Amino acid sequence: ANTLLAQTGTTIFTVMSALAAQHGAINLGQGFPDTEGPADVVRAAADALLDNRNQYPPLTGMPELRQAVAAANERFYGLKIDANTGVCVTSGATEAITACLMALLNPGDEAVLIEPLYDTYLPVVKLLGATARLVRLEPPRWELPREKLTAAFGPNTKLLLLNSPMNPTGKVFTPEELDFIASLLREHDAYAVCDEVYEHLVFKGARHIPLMTLPGMAERCVRIGSAGKTFSLTGWKVGYVSGPAELISLVAKAHQNLTFTTAPNLQRAVAYGLGKEDAYFASLADELQAKRDLLETGLKRLGFATLPADGSYFITADFSALGYNGDDVAFCRTITEEAGVTAIPVSAFYVDNPPRHYARFAFCKKNEVLEAALQRLERWM
Ligand code: GLN
Repeated sequence: ANTLLAQTGTTIFTVMSALAAQHGAINLGQGFPDTEGPADVVRAAADALLDNRNQYPPLTGMPELRQAVAAANERFYGLKIDANTGVCVTSGATEAITACLMALLNPGDEAVLIEPLYDTYLPVVKLLGATARLVRLEPPRWELPREKLTAAFGPNTKLLLLNSPMNPTGKVFTPEELDFIASLLREHDAYAVCDEVYEHLVFKGARHIPLMTLPGMAERCVRIGSAGKTFSLTGWKVGYVSGPAELISLVAKAHQNLTFTTAPNLQRAVAYGLGKEDAYFASLADELQAKRDLLETGLKRLGFATLPADGSYFITADFSALGYNGDDVAFCRTITEEAGVTAIPVSAFYVDNPPRHYARFAFCKKNEVLEAALQRLERWM
């Protein structure tokens, strides 16, 4: 058996969702909406099935979706992406991340990863025989530690993996931080894999800027999006990578050995969805912001210290003022079992010496579900 995979545990999202189900808890752990995405997008997928869109589509994605991804890059960010050579459609952003890392890393290369980190990054870097150089963001401010980031770069640095808006922190990297990152990439002639699955889930006061839009970055960045997040259809697993032709051709080689293609009816529906009017994308963010506000206000009222969340599905809350005697893993287990509300321990996103009194709550849920969760927590306290 592969030693690294044998050592890899089951993902925390699956563990906590199973625990939530076992205890009938309201699941604010794993990040998925509890309502369906836009009906017209779902209908487009159903129509496409009946329209006999059921055989292998082209390797890098159906032309209509590649064109829609290129057009969205231009519409939202002014990015010029070639629909024929600059896009690769994947089966979810999860596959896209693996394909990009496979495309860029050789054994012995170094990849700079930023903690807290999404759970698929590190195992894949290791499987490829590369070495991770970890740079930690610390709560409560999650600021980029510039000296430590600089020190993580060296002669063997091949790439940096940047997740903005960031899971689990809800941090949206600032223009100054992005400038600093870009200068390091230029200086060290390194690439960036940009996990931007939450690109359209950004709230007032913050703005998502793809690293790829900065000077000298277009040729160094591969940018990953997810239909699951952009259309609140997380089970669909349609991802897309945009970038320069030389890099996308390598991503396509990885993709051909991972899944080769992605369901054609879903591709057609996502192509349709990406063409929706600006108002759709604005209301997606506005509705989610209202949910963030609801949960944030409620958690604060209960005595949690919530951290700013400018994007994504998630808010981090410090529970140390509640007087609970235990770490975040114990806390998340206890509130699942006793209060009937599930959250994710933030320590799961760190490799060593994690902070131990923060829990990640997902707010991509119906308002009445968020309210019920707050009531359950209040009763428990
Ligand atoms: N990205 C989702 C989260 O952070 C979970 C996806 C998964 O379960 N693999 O909650």
